[in-house]
Amino acid sequence: MLKTDVCILGAGPGGATAALHLANKGISSLLVDKAVFPRDKVCGDALSGKVVNELRRISPDLPQLFSQEQEALPSWGIHFISPGGEKLSVPFKYNYQKAQDAPAGYISKRLHFDNFLIEQVKQRSEVRLLEGVEVAAFERLPEGGFALLGKDSQSLIQTKLLLVANGAQSAFSRHVANLQQEPEHYCAGLRAYYKGVEGLDGDNFIELHFFKDFLPGYFWIFPLPNGHANVGVGMLSSAVSKKKVNLKKEMLRMIESHPALQQRFRNAELLGGIKGYGLPLGSKKRRISGDNYMLLGDAGALIDPFTGEGVSNAMISGRWAAEQVFQCLQAQDFSTAFMQGYDKAVYNRLWKELKLSRQMQRLLNYPWLFDKVASKASKNTVLAETISCMFNDLDLRERLKQPSFYLKLLFN
Ligand SMILES: Cc1cc2nc3c(=O)[nH]c(=O)nc-3n(C[C@H](O)[C@H](O)[C@H](O)COP(=O)(O)OP(=O)(O)OC[C@H]3O[C@@H](n4cnc5c(N)ncnc54)[C@H](O)[C@@H]3O)c2cc1C
Repeated sequence: MLKTDVCILGAGPGGATAALHLANKGISSLLVDKAVFPRDKVCGDALSGKVVNELRRISPDLPQLFSQEQEALPSWGIHFISPGGEKLSVPFKYNYQKAQDAPAGYISKRLHFDNFLIEQVKQRSEVRLLEGVEVAAFERLPEGGFALLGKDSQSLIQTKLLLVANGAQSAFSRHVANLQQEPEHYCAGLRAYYKGVEGLDGDNFIELHFFKDFLPGYFWIFPLPNGHANVGVGMLSSAVSKKKVNLKKEMLRMIESHPALQQRFRNAELLGGIKGYGLPLGSKKRRISGDNYMLLGDAGALIDPFTGEGVSNAMISGRWAAEQVFQCLQAQDFSTAFMQGYDKAVYNRLWKELKLSRQMQRLLNYPWLFDKVASKASKNTVLAETISCMFNDLDLRERLKQPSFYLKLLFN
């Protein structure tokens, strides 16, 4: 049985980032994962500019180090395909120059990206990494803190502070922190790897297709190194049950028969199976800490409700959790009241954009408006530039909320 001040449960992007920031502050931690790395994680594998920023915050040389990875494909933008079939191409940076600019995003299998982070962790003497250790239950200790139990109910670890970063199916989040899985704020997702998909973008733009007969769900094709592609679908769980959608059947139906996909997949080969996993969305503010614990990443439901992006938000929460640990150890205060500093810091950074994405998610209820925006923007360079800048400029993105934005668009 191990005793520690700080234990991090889960070594995905949230947990690994917290461990690295703690190490930077000279604080030791125990990082526990049931998997042995490298390990797969069902995901779209798209890493936004926010991920690159978070890598830089861990260490200024990390973005450059990651860009040298064979398994990371630079991506320069997104193609949105509207319900009416309008293609709106939005570069992450307007007028980008591939030879000079650093890429704003990457696509890299999580098998590789998460292992890249774990390789950084392994270089830090402050972090003790335990792989292949599954935590099955939790008990509160009389003196404060938690005992982490194995499958045989044996106590494995005792810790004063627990950073819960064990993903979308976290038993701690559900049973100890009481975070309910609400279908209105939860998305179901499927992912498959293919080779031989035709018509992938030369600059590795990722593709988001909003097909009329699959709304409010979306279909994606994200190019990967070696001519492979990450292909998947996502749909709000409330819509899945209301419409009784069989996601796997729908995904294969679209690949086999949708006019926009059929030709492109005619020589494509499915590699491995089609795997599913949940996306706890951050479209609702929740309590993400309590006596002696904090919830990070998916365990705290922090995924962007419009884009499905969760890696960067997990890393951001990991960074703020490390800061809170520092404060707690200094003050020797691990109480619910003191922990609120963590909730405040995370939502201060993320709530504005999560709320906006919730509103954009609702745009999918108005497919005709989506078509109109896409159609106008594909012909109007100023509008296309504005939308492109919205990726980096939240104030600009706010305009999408204003009816005047759409009125001007419709009558210009
Ligand atoms: C289909 C799909 C597509 C997605 N596409 C994207 C995308 O393109 N871009 C993006 O940014 N995000 C995407 N996301 C979201 C993203 O995958 C998550 O937000 C991200 O993985 C959250 O990181 P995390 O560190 O919180 O948790 P995770 O990455 O889930 O890591 C949790 C870790 O905890 C470990 N663990 C779990 N239970 C235990 C236990 N009992 N004991 C010990 N260890 C345990 C696991 O082995 C794992 O290593 C997608 C999600 C899905 C499902």
